[in-house]
Amino acid sequence: MSTPRFPAPALTVTRFAPSPTGYLHLGHAHSALCGWTAARHVGGRFLLRSEDIDPARCRPDFEAALQVDLAWLGLDWDGPVRRQSEHMADYAAALDRLRALEVIYPCFCSRREIQEEIARAGNAPHLTVAGPDGPLYPGTCRHLPAGLVQDRLAAGQPHALRLDVAAALRLTGPLVWHDRAAGTVVAQPGLLGDVVLARRDVPTSYHLSVTVDDHLQGVTLVTRGVDLFHATHLHRLLQALLGLTVPDYHHHALLTNADGRRLSKRDGATALRVLRQAGHSAAEVRAMAGFPG
Ligand code: GLU
Repeated sequence: MSTPRFPAPALTVTRFAPSPTGYLHLGHAHSALCGWTAARHVGGRFLLRSEDIDPARCRPDFEAALQVDLAWLGLDWDGPVRRQSEHMADYAAALDRLRALEVIYPCFCSRREIQEEIARAGNAPHLTVAGPDGPLYPGTCRHLPAGLVQDRLAAGQPHALRLDVAAALRLTGPLVWHDRAAGTVVAQPGLLGDVVLARRDVPTSYHLSVTVDDHLQGVTLVTRGVDLFHATHLHRLLQALLGLTVPDYHHHALLTNADGRRLSKRDGATALRVLRQAGHSAAEVRAMAGFPG
């Protein structure tokens, strides 16, 4: 009798991608355990990435501390930690590609100018569109005359780079992605408006770096909090524009404090290092983070 041949199951690759801007708390532990468990239960790989693009907020001692906390919790990761600050060339290459597709534009607006523009449009509420993180960028720089843009760039005027979502969607057409909890989701990148892909002060952004890295690191399943669900609409659009592989997603529920608010770095009492110093075992802390046994 011949032995049946089955295709080798695809290797599951997950990741935990904190920004080292503070100490990890129980919410981070929950997120890390979601990713680690999803990989390890099927013999997959679990990666650790440091999303440290913001030099003003990220600190090497926080990165060192989070590695200590994860190891203490019993989480191991495969390969070296990918530090985003060391991979700016990858994000610049992605921006070059988007520039060639004519779907990004320089935005010279300061934060204050955007607020003033939104306040003015407030008198005409039909022009102000609310997004999940507040009012959307009103599009001031989207259609500046080319000559003016060239003059401003030549004069070295500080600027961000924004995605022209409508132009991008004209290229890609409708898109879908899959979430393990929500099922098939029709992408609605317009919900976030023309997001910044390269900041004035940092030549990339969370959205661009995370999407490029998940592809470059071969991530097959993105596990992260449901607070980032809306961001995935945009990431799906970037994947289509840049020809990147599309991972599966699992946006997990967020842990909340006694008041029902999601845990944040301000909830110092749930910092893993504080719990450890208070004498809790790793097993107890894993249970507090929703992973008993
Ligand atoms: N760096 C993000 C954070 O700390 C997580 C990004 C992600 O998992 O996609 O919130």
